[in-house]
Amino acid sequence: METTLRGVGVSHGVAIGQVRHMGTAVLEPPAKQIATDEAEREQGRARKAVEAVAADLMARGNLAGGEAQAVLEAQAMMAQDPELMADVDRRIVVGSTAERAVYDAFAAYRALLAGAGEYLAGRVADLDDVRNRIVARLLGVPMPGVPDSDEPYVLIARDLAPADTALLDPTLVLGFVTEEGGPTSHSAILARALGVPAVVALPGAGELAEGTTIAVDGSTGEIFVEPSTEKKAELEAAAAERKAALAASSGPGATSDGHKVPLLANVGGPADVPAAVEAGAEGVGLFRTEFLFLDDSKKAPSEQKQIEAYRQVLEAFPEGRVVVRVLDAGADKPLDFLTPADEPNPALGVRGLRTLLDHPEVLRTQLTALAKAAEGLPVYLEVMAPMVADRIDARAFAEACREAGLQAKFGAMVEIPSAALRARSILQEVEFLSLGTNDLAQYTFAADRQVGAVSRLQDPWQPALLDLVALSAEAAKAEGKSCGVCGEAASDPLLACVLTGLGVTSLSMGAASIPYVRASLAKYTLAQCERAAAAARAADTAEEARSAAQAVLSGE
Ligand code: PEP
Ligand code: MG
Repeated sequence: METTLRGVGVSHGVAIGQVRHMGTAVLEPPAKQIATDEAEREQGRARKAVEAVAADLMARGNLAGGEAQAVLEAQAMMAQDPELMADVDRRIVVGSTAERAVYDAFAAYRALLAGAGEYLAGRVADLDDVRNRIVARLLGVPMPGVPDSDEPYVLIARDLAPADTALLDPTLVLGFVTEEGGPTSHSAILARALGVPAVVALPGAGELAEGTTIAVDGSTGEIFVEPSTEKKAELEAAAAERKAALAASSGPGATSDGHKVPLLANVGGPADVPAAVEAGAEGVGLFRTEFLFLDDSKKAPSEQKQIEAYRQVLEAFPEGRVVVRVLDAGADKPLDFLTPADEPNPALGVRGLRTLLDHPEVLRTQLTALAKAAEGLPVYLEVMAPMVADRIDARAFAEACREAGLQAKFGAMVEIPSAALRARSILQEVEFLSLGTNDLAQYTFAADRQVGAVSRLQDPWQPALLDLVALSAEAAKAEGKSCGVCGEAASDPLLACVLTGLGVTSLSMGAASIPYVRASLAKYTLAQCERAAAAARAADTAEEARSAAQAVLSGE
């Protein structure tokens, strides 16, 4: 029978497919003793699991080809290492279960590798992966990490770290649903970047049985379990209708009376550029450079590697604006070599610009790479710092940009309430502001972005958040400077009109949202947007603010 569940819709569209769960970390199998006459059976189980994992790794290697094939084949050989297998057998003879024997034999081998020079120590992660696969198979639980599947599926996870999401293949992942995460969590942001429908903060998502067919409506946040044929047809028709209406919208962003609001794209690297160009983005309003740093947890990418990535993005918008944000590491995006490991409260610790000021060499390399990447290109390069708290931060960043010889505008993100409250002071040091409403909501409401239970407070319609947006936009206007929004608030078509009415000068969002926002803005005059903004600010709750703005814009 069809049942309906409700979470928070964070990425438009409808996905219908079978549930596959993200495998969680493999737990240590209990140290249970087996009887002597069970040893032979356990040895057989262990051998079968090892062979199956090795065969699976080889098969995936064949499919992948290239460098990945070599890595997967090496892993398959590790799994079948004769000494390791002999150790597993020995442990079973003295009373271990197959899973416990594999777990312990790999632990012993791991300790050997870890102490055996840099190259072998680097294989430890591969060894752990092999061990987890064998133990998961023996325990009959899903393989850890993103499911291995040749068939498209709907991914269910507790939450998705940026590193997991970066590995998702949009041709296989039809959509995803998470138990945790709010509308501004990085899993939600990446879902939009991938252009797949997604719902977050859905308690009980983990209990959906593997293989169940579900329909995910990323616009309403509804999940239909075992949907009827009529329901599927109804959802698909509605999604197709919305898509067709949007395809008709094109051109630069503007209100119906011609007030221009450039619509820019949020990108995580060159891979996101084609979708941005296709959606008609007028440039990039937020280039999240931290995704370039996720490949290696030990060091920053070389200057040359950075130059290449930056240049690819800059070249895609020859006459457009590209706003690059320098590395935003820390909190939910930790980097081993930069982020302190022992912070009691990482979101309030050393993250964003604070990390870079503690590691000036990383900032210097990044700014120099940007300067070189932009050389000879007609692009309007703008560079901004995340997590600017006050004028001292803004000055330090502007000085670092000048020292690197960067020919660009320098800006500050407004993500901390203090920056909104003292925006004019910050604008004495930098040339533009960009509102990161995701973090601004997190810090204004003391509500962690990653915690689904407090998602009510991360709602960007909260009037207190709108007040801080208004303060920043008014300060920028008084200083004759620009103030955009690059947080997820900009991707809500109705809220985009309210932000415009509050005086925001550009809107930047995941490419998939651009057509929706463009179509919505084109329906109203600037004066209507201003009235909607005033009505939203006069409300007491997010829900009332949304209804009040809707009422003004629909002429009720
Ligand atoms: C924000 O905080 O709104 C923002 C755009 O930055 P990020 O989401 O990457 O923290
Ligand atoms: Mg932020």
